[in-house]
Amino acid sequence: MYGKIKEYLATEFKKIQDAGLIKNERVIESQQGAEIIVKGKKCLNFCANNYLGLSSHPDLINAAHKAIDERGFGLSSVRFICGTQDIHKTLEHKISDFLGMEDCILFSSCFDANGGVFEPLMEEEDAIITDALNHASIIDGIRLSKAKRWIYNHGDMRDVEETDSATGKSGKGLERCLKESQSCRFRLIATDGVFSMDGDIAKLKEICDLAEKYDALVMVDDSHATGFMGKTGKGTHEYNDVMGRVDIITTTFGKALGGASGGCIASYKEIIDWMRNKARPYLFSNTVPPAVVGATIKVIDILTKSTELRDKLEQNTKYFREKMTAVGFDIIPGVHPIVPIMFGKYPNCSKLAVDFANRMLDEGIYVTPFSFPVVPKGKDRIRVQISAGHEKQHLDMAIEAFTKVGRELNIIK
Ligand SMILES: *Cc1c(COP(=O)(O)O)cnc(C)c1O
Repeated sequence: MYGKIKEYLATEFKKIQDAGLIKNERVIESQQGAEIIVKGKKCLNFCANNYLGLSSHPDLINAAHKAIDERGFGLSSVRFICGTQDIHKTLEHKISDFLGMEDCILFSSCFDANGGVFEPLMEEEDAIITDALNHASIIDGIRLSKAKRWIYNHGDMRDVEETDSATGKSGKGLERCLKESQSCRFRLIATDGVFSMDGDIAKLKEICDLAEKYDALVMVDDSHATGFMGKTGKGTHEYNDVMGRVDIITTTFGKALGGASGGCIASYKEIIDWMRNKARPYLFSNTVPPAVVGATIKVIDILTKSTELRDKLEQNTKYFREKMTAVGFDIIPGVHPIVPIMFGKYPNCSKLAVDFANRMLDEGIYVTPFSFPVVPKGKDRIRVQISAGHEKQHLDMAIEAFTKVGRELNIIK
C-alpha cells in the first residue's frame, strides 16, 4: 500500500527543491551532436561526452542498421546461455588489441563493469586502495567486495597522513596506504584515468611505480579517455607512457566511442576468464544488443585507421582553452576536453553559475552549471566539454557568447 512513504517523499523532495538542488532535465528534440534542438530552438551543445563527435555519425548509424539486419534486435539471453554472437567475440578482440591488453569482456555499461570487477577478485584477506575522487561506480563496486579498503587523498602519492585544517578530516597518501596494507594477500589500486569534474589525469607513472614497489595490481577506469587520450587515442596508459604496466582497464562505449551504451573490462586472459565465470553483472544481466556491438566495432575500426578525430579534438581543446584564458576566465589548466570554468572567486557563485548557464542558453550555447554537492562548496563551475564534432565556427560562437555574458555579469572586463 502506498501510504506513509508518499508524504515522506513529498516533504524530503521539497527540501531538495528549496535548496535549489533538483536536477531538471532539458529535453533535446534532435539527434545528439554539436548542433541540437532544445525547445524548438537550435543551439550548440558544449556539455556532452561526445568527445569524438561520433554520437550520430553516419558510419555508426549504418553499422548499427547492418547489425540489426544481420543479427537482429536483441538476444533475449545472458552471454553464457545463448547471448554470444560472433560479433560480440569480434568486438572483444578488437578492443583488447586497441587497448594493448590480452583479453576483454563486454558489459551493458561501465557502471556494470565496475560493479563486477572487484568482488570476484578481491576477498576478505585482500585490500583495495582507492582515490578519494573515484567515480560512483568504482565506489559501489568496491562496496560489493569483502576486501579491506584504503582511501587515499585525491592524487596524493606520498607516504604521509595529514589532517586537513579546513575540514578537520585526516587523509593519507597512496604510499602510506600501501605500507599499511602490506600484510594483505593481494592488493589492487583503483583510479579513474581522468577525473570528470576537474578533467585532471591520474598520475599513472607514479601509481605504477608504487604498485611495482609494493606488489599491487593497478586498475584504471578510462571512461573519459578511451578513444582520444594519448598519441593514438588508447587512453591514459598511453598518455602517461605506462602501456603494459596497467593490469586492468574498465571503460565505457557511452562517451567517446559512439555514446550509446555498453562497457568492458580489458586485462590478462586469466582475469577475463575469471570475470566471465564470476562477475555478477555479466552472469545475471542481458547481453549487449547487436546494434551497439556492430557500431562499436565500427568505432574501433575508425580509430585504428586514423588519429584524425582525436587530433582534431586536441586542437579544438587547445584553441578553446587558450582563447577563454586570454579573455580572462578562471579555468583549471590542463589538456583534457573537459574545461572547467570556475566561479568560486565571485560572490554568490552558485547562483552566478546557474544564471550564467541560463544566459548562455539564450545565446544559443548549451552548458551545464555544477554546484555542491556534485563539486565541493566554493568550487562552483560551468563544465564545458569540447568535441571533435565542433567546428572552429562553433568554438568561436561559444567563446563570443561566454565573453558577452561574462561582461554582462561583470566577471570579466
Ligand atoms: C561515465 C562513467 C562511468 C559510467 O559509464 P556507463 O557506461 O555510462 O555506465 C563509469 N566510470 C567513469 C569514470 C565514468 O566517467
